[in-house]
Amino acid sequence: MTSVITSTIGYPRIGEKREWKKSLERFWQGGISENQLLDEMKKIRLDHLQKQMDKGVDLIPVGDFTLYDHVLDTSFMFGLIPERFGNYNQSDSLNTYFDIARGNDEVVASEMTKWFNTNYHYIVPEIDGNSNPELINNFPLHYFNEAREHLGIIGKPVLLGPMTFITLAKGVEKNKGNFLLKKLVPLYIQVLQELKNAGAEWVQFDEPILCTSTTKEDLQLFNEVYELIHRQLPDVNILIQTYFEAVDHYEEVVSLPVAGIGLDFVHDSGKNLDNLKTYGFPKEKALAAGVINGRNIWRADLEKQLTQLETILKKVDNERLIVQPSCSLLHVPVTIETEKEIDPVLKDGLSFADQKLQETALLTKALNEGKESVEETLTKQKEALIQLWGDKEQKDSSKDRTNTWEEQKIGRASDYRTRQKLQEKYFNLPLLPTTTIGSLPQTNGIRKARMNWRKGEWTDSYYETFIKNNISEWISRQEEWGLDVLVHGEFERNDMVEFFGEKLEGFVFSRFGWVQSYGSRCVKPPIIYKEVVHQQPMTLKEIAYAQSLTDKPIKGMLTGPVTIVNWSFVREDISRFEVTKQVALALQEEVKALEDKSIRMIQVDEPALREGLPLKEEKQNDYLEKAVYAFKLATSLVKDETQIHTHMCYSEFGTIMTTIDQLDADVISIEAARSHGEIVADFEKISYEKGIGLGVYDIHSPRVPHVEEMEANILRALRVLHPRQFWVNPDCGLKTRGTEETAAALTNMVEAARKAREKVKQSVSGS
Ligand code: GLN
Ligand code: ZN
Repeated sequence: MTSVITSTIGYPRIGEKREWKKSLERFWQGGISENQLLDEMKKIRLDHLQKQMDKGVDLIPVGDFTLYDHVLDTSFMFGLIPERFGNYNQSDSLNTYFDIARGNDEVVASEMTKWFNTNYHYIVPEIDGNSNPELINNFPLHYFNEAREHLGIIGKPVLLGPMTFITLAKGVEKNKGNFLLKKLVPLYIQVLQELKNAGAEWVQFDEPILCTSTTKEDLQLFNEVYELIHRQLPDVNILIQTYFEAVDHYEEVVSLPVAGIGLDFVHDSGKNLDNLKTYGFPKEKALAAGVINGRNIWRADLEKQLTQLETILKKVDNERLIVQPSCSLLHVPVTIETEKEIDPVLKDGLSFADQKLQETALLTKALNEGKESVEETLTKQKEALIQLWGDKEQKDSSKDRTNTWEEQKIGRASDYRTRQKLQEKYFNLPLLPTTTIGSLPQTNGIRKARMNWRKGEWTDSYYETFIKNNISEWISRQEEWGLDVLVHGEFERNDMVEFFGEKLEGFVFSRFGWVQSYGSRCVKPPIIYKEVVHQQPMTLKEIAYAQSLTDKPIKGMLTGPVTIVNWSFVREDISRFEVTKQVALALQEEVKALEDKSIRMIQVDEPALREGLPLKEEKQNDYLEKAVYAFKLATSLVKDETQIHTHMCYSEFGTIMTTIDQLDADVISIEAARSHGEIVADFEKISYEKGIGLGVYDIHSPRVPHVEEMEANILRALRVLHPRQFWVNPDCGLKTRGTEETAAALTNMVEAARKAREKVKQSVSGS
């Protein structure tokens, strides 16, 4: 009897104890050889396949694994290696691969940016019209053969689909269709042909770009691309996988000439299901239905999902239905099982990747063997959620404040111009003031100290003295290098969200709940599970201490409400906006506490503001309005002289310029060094009058930038921005950098600012 099957779209790479990260970093530090690295990686890969098999996944993805990033893998597979990395050389290919991702002493890495609306970052492919891609390494084939050979698994190779790949790439915007059809698709066909010869039955083509706002023309190109593939290889089963939203143009999408379509039924606002009900689903195709949330960590309401699947089964035959998570499980931690310290009520409500595999398998079982076969788990799971948040159905709807905008007055007392005058007088800074974004190098010593203290091996006072010593050492250094606005260095912080989460009520932390952010870098998002409340000042001690050591202004450092929420796993029983407002109100108290202690520059970082932007244009305004509201709720009740800074780390922000302006921060700093002047072009089109620092050097690589290079960056920015409004700073925080390179880079930066200042002084005094 044929029946419904279970699949996954992708599994976390990092391993239960971050083995993956540790191997990579050991290799980069020269601790293990290339062969050792590859062996360790293989073991991790096979373990993950085994695990999925054990948990009942029928169709297991292969090639979702990577040594750094799957988008980079795709570029690399096709030999799309930017020229500056030299000629491709098989024997040195791994180093080239990592150089593209991380840069080296001579060459700047490729740009990195957020993967759709997630906190995962991919390496932006660099293509130009003259690039001549060729298949230099069929990764998916390698992984397919390996899974089969070692575990007897006929895996489902995962490829980043050509349309998404080309859309994420830089350099072919104008020539997209041509490049795709002439140069890229033939290579995809070659990959597929080899996979087919090796015995692959299904191949997953990830095309999340279909979940952004697409046009009919996009769909036409989609059709051409897949038609071309289909004509060459009519009997390879391609499954076009979408996620993170509903697809626009449902009918066109499901009619693409492929064997299966994967849809997200969790983050689609019900749209995919509505469309399915209205337009049905092609008889001959398989539907991969994403019904378990791959983006959050709560147990699913299995009963609800079962009902949804039953609705789907009215339109799709059993043997054509695949049940799976809504997206790759890359975005959630590996397993809840290793968490021993979480409160049992909460723990029963949690589901990480491995638990999601079980939930997926359970739903499949319910469909195949009847609901009775899983009744017990179903009830248990439902009760667990009621225990945690109460019974939704019983909740008094008048108390549901969902999406209401409270009446609290927000907004600064005076407009920017007025504030600016007062602040200029108050701070008396030079032209082109220099500063940093907040964190200073987190050396092993610092990390170890924090650990000793956490484990109770160090007393509070011993630890506090240690932190103070670091602050004071670095205040002296910053003074010595001649920076104008100093920072305390964030030595007491492990992570910019975790730090606040630990001090606010309403948050809880897992021990091993890591998620990959970029490359080997993992973050452990806090879990917001109940009302967020400010308890006591969180940052005052360190910042006030730093200020006591110097006459230069110290910037107080806070993480903004939108970022805290976007980088946390958020409870699902009340709206996200409600949670964001709770966080904002808590931060408002912190801002007040700082101001009361005479900290008059306060930076509220919102690096995650843009990544939370909904993929669909029609939802973006609402999100941005709420983000502005929350930011202002946290920051706008300060005195005119108090200078509010904000920081964001990304480059393509032309689109949200209006929002940035509406935040009404006195100064903003943004990443800019890696995007080669694109930002400057943005400012040619718009007028921005508040303080702004466009990062003058990239902090993602250990390379020490030269004075001339940074001076050029400053002068280029001054073509479109006024010297009076421009700040000189690195792209982002320096916590991942070493002490020496930071000293060198900041010394150079101050020198670059000095030189630039000399050049523009005249024009400013004359104006
Ligand atoms: N203040 C933070 C730091 O410097 C900002 C980090 C970020 O933007 N991600 O580390
Ligand atoms: Zn940043």
